[in-house]
Amino acid sequence: MWVRAGVDAAASWFLGASCPTCGAPTAGVCPACHATLTGVAPFAAPVDAGVAVWASADYTDPWRTAAIGFKERGARSLADPLGWALARAVAALLLAGGRLPDGVDLVPMPSRAAAVRERGLDTTALLARHAAAVVAGTGLDAGVDACLRHRRRVADQAGLDVVGRRRNVAGAFVARPRRGRPVVVVDDLATTGASLAEATRALRAAGASVCGAAVLCAVTRERPGGGAPPSG
Ligand SMILES: [Zn+2]
Repeated sequence: MWVRAGVDAAASWFLGASCPTCGAPTAGVCPACHATLTGVAPFAAPVDAGVAVWASADYTDPWRTAAIGFKERGARSLADPLGWALARAVAALLLAGGRLPDGVDLVPMPSRAAAVRERGLDTTALLARHAAAVVAGTGLDAGVDACLRHRRRVADQAGLDVVGRRRNVAGAFVARPRRGRPVVVVDDLATTGASLAEATRALRAAGASVCGAAVLCAVTRERPGGGAPPSG
């Protein structure tokens, strides 16, 4: 352990690196944050998506800082612990369904093209791949099928109220035709469930069997100071 710590400290001194969650001088996510971020107790999120939605954590710290660091600041070292956390929500969703399927595909919520261009990366798809690898490690045949896409432009959901969000995404997604094993929609954040509901509608219209949705974080209460709800 001390060897690893020494290497991390040296890398940190050399690169000026710090943990993207707590700021400790280290290369990548520090061991303490890694343990906290992955040590989640998933819960059924109280959002109205028309399907069961399980979340790994509340949209509070350290998950909030980690989610923002991963999505907005390009901290790719967070893909591993956040993928683990998301995988636990996927597992909880499937177990709550009573009967485990033989296999499952995770369907990442499509990111806005402008957001992918800005970030140079589809962070939701990357999170889905990490989560699927963890689920597959438990013996369940799991993969990723990025079969959803936008069929028209949508505005950023941040700043819209519940009605505005539903209107913004209504009919906005389309899925490739799907048969066979069921799917779980995955995303980093659920706020009102509007996007997850639209994703579910589009997948079902394409013939998919939708188990539900799993998200990293759910916004479950009013945040101090108010302000616009985040995208999701
Ligand atoms: Zn840390």
